Amino acid sequence: MASLFEMDIRQLKGVGEKRAQLYRRLGAPTVGDLLRLYPRAYEDWGLYTPVAQTELHQVGVVRGTVLHKPTEHRVKGGKTLYKVTVTDGESDLRLTFFNNRYIPLLLKPGQDYVFRGKVGGGLLVREMASPAFLPAEKAKAILPVYPATQGLTSRMIGSAVQNALALLPGTLHDPLPQALREKYGLAGLGEALRGIHFPQSPKELAQAKRRLVFEEFLVLQLGLMGLKSGRRQENLHPVHPGFPESFAGLLPFKLTGAQRRVITEALGDMAGPYPMNRLVQGDVGSGKTAVAAALCWAMAQTGAQSALMAPTEILASQHFASLSALLGPAGVECALFTGSMPAAQRREQQARLAAGDIHLAIGTHALISEKVGFQDLGLVITDEQHRFGVNQRSALAEKGASPHLLVMSATPIPRTLALMVYGDLDISVLDELPPGRQEVRTYLIDPAKRQRAFRYVQKHLDEGRQGYLVCPLIEADGTPLMSVETYSALVGKAFPGVPVGILHGKLKNREKERAMEEFAQGRTRLLVATTVVEVGVDVPNAAVMVIENAERYGLSQLHQLRGRIGRGQYPSSCILITDAQNEETLSRLRMFRDTRDGFQIADADLKLRGPGDFFGQRQHGLPQLKIADMANDLEVLQKAQRCAQRLFAGDALQGPEYRALRGEVRRLFSRPGSGQVVL
Ligand code: ADP
Ligand code: MG
Repeated sequence: MASLFEMDIRQLKGVGEKRAQLYRRLGAPTVGDLLRLYPRAYEDWGLYTPVAQTELHQVGVVRGTVLHKPTEHRVKGGKTLYKVTVTDGESDLRLTFFNNRYIPLLLKPGQDYVFRGKVGGGLLVREMASPAFLPAEKAKAILPVYPATQGLTSRMIGSAVQNALALLPGTLHDPLPQALREKYGLAGLGEALRGIHFPQSPKELAQAKRRLVFEEFLVLQLGLMGLKSGRRQENLHPVHPGFPESFAGLLPFKLTGAQRRVITEALGDMAGPYPMNRLVQGDVGSGKTAVAAALCWAMAQTGAQSALMAPTEILASQHFASLSALLGPAGVECALFTGSMPAAQRREQQARLAAGDIHLAIGTHALISEKVGFQDLGLVITDEQHRFGVNQRSALAEKGASPHLLVMSATPIPRTLALMVYGDLDISVLDELPPGRQEVRTYLIDPAKRQRAFRYVQKHLDEGRQGYLVCPLIEADGTPLMSVETYSALVGKAFPGVPVGILHGKLKNREKERAMEEFAQGRTRLLVATTVVEVGVDVPNAAVMVIENAERYGLSQLHQLRGRIGRGQYPSSCILITDAQNEETLSRLRMFRDTRDGFQIADADLKLRGPGDFFGQRQHGLPQLKIADMANDLEVLQKAQRCAQRLFAGDALQGPEYRALRGEVRRLFSRPGSGQVVL
């Protein structure tokens, strides 16, 4: 296989310079790549229906005998029409073809063909216009459909693949050695490639797919693990080992056991032989900021600097406010870097940062800007990491000499996925909420009861609390979906005299900040918002939340939203409003209503909606998967992960039988900037 990846696609019969260019565009510059260009779908040519039973206006597959020589008819515009009738022995099917002068040569009277196309006609006569067809003996049960581009049809790709398959040597260096294939019940590579392109049966296809999916996951996982060891440089910023009691003394509260444990784990890394690469997963409100503060404090004690990057300006300002209040008095100089800050202030801060007078730089991705330079960056923390790509993470890290890396995520990612996305990180879990947290009671109601929900909100307001009202849209778009615009008018009427703020993504950063600021200080009592409030906003006095069109959100997103309340000592309520009737949707929402555990919700979300929610728009920066699908192939993913861990733990991978596998891993991670994989 390795040599096929070096063989230029032009060496295939029928592929010249022009087509080669098209293949390159499809990501297949070599014969090996072509074999890994898997069909996007399959057409079933095996399940013929009798003509009489074909469904009108649907794609039908019919096997029939040609009754006569196709007849030629001239039609308007100088076009030629060919007509031919075929029969399945019971009923006739009339076929027409436009401008295809090969038809009389291709369809021979008395011969059998399989036709596939949209069925037209009426009750008495069935017709197909320009159906695809194959001689009956060639119409295999299942035919591949490739991602065609202009100038390169699926059929052309199919025949090129067939030529490529013929080049496969009898004994292939299979990346998965025999013993491993036997252990996991996987097909050999040659068999799998033939099976994925030209399966003889659904079963063969399934076996081929399973093997290729397994291999893809295994290669990806091994690559991630290899990246992790590739990053093992010397620890240039060791901190003092042991739990920092004097830091704990700065806090207005007592750290939870989980916080102490995670701080100890992280500082253990930072005091160890290699730089830290750690993910802290903690449910909303579990107190990740205090963990970050502890590490920044410890870094400042050594004289080196830290950077904390948050995805939004609101969140960055909030971190700046709480961290500078906490660490400032202890001599840790903090500064905020955002895109909207005045140029003069930015220049002044940049100078102080470069001189080492600032110990902790907090900001948005403005921190990545070229002009921001550190004197000695020893620690990089990214908050709500799933919003950043791996590249942004490393862009910040490159401002220091192999700094420690901490990634904080509030999305409880199911472990399986965490291993995939963050496979190159060690993982700590903050699995305990600070004491005294009030339960958030969750209700699910239909819009007819909205007034009752509002009375409930009023009750919280009367007790001095504040509330969030969340809508899916910013402006009304003519659909029944609630918008911030419509809703704030509604709220104005329902709560006369109550100051109401507005927060959404279209506001300027300064306006967003002001809205947040006013709400945090209690000057506005209600905040009508989109999911902008989802990310990390912390107002402990907010104790009620109404979420309109709750069916529009993923469970993990709802969980993030709900995490905005119940952060203080007040009993809190979350009211989901939906007019959904669909039983599946309702049971999903009921499950959310009855569950608090973020991990359980994340698992359910993964099963229901797939991994998209966790990955965002492919922001994870991982190599793209060709055949495997994290949600649908979860079981194979888990097996491949266990296999990768086993291989990585021993020195099996170094053996000669794994040479081909090591090659696949290197090929996958060979893009520039993807880091060095050490296997
Ligand atoms: P998240 O993990 O969602 O980022 P935060 O760090 O914002 O959580 O913490 C949520 C709230 O809990 C904050 O108001 C913070 O001051 C408070 N908090 C954090 N740790 C503790 C603790 N151990 N005891 C009491 N309150 C805490
Ligand atoms: Mg947070």
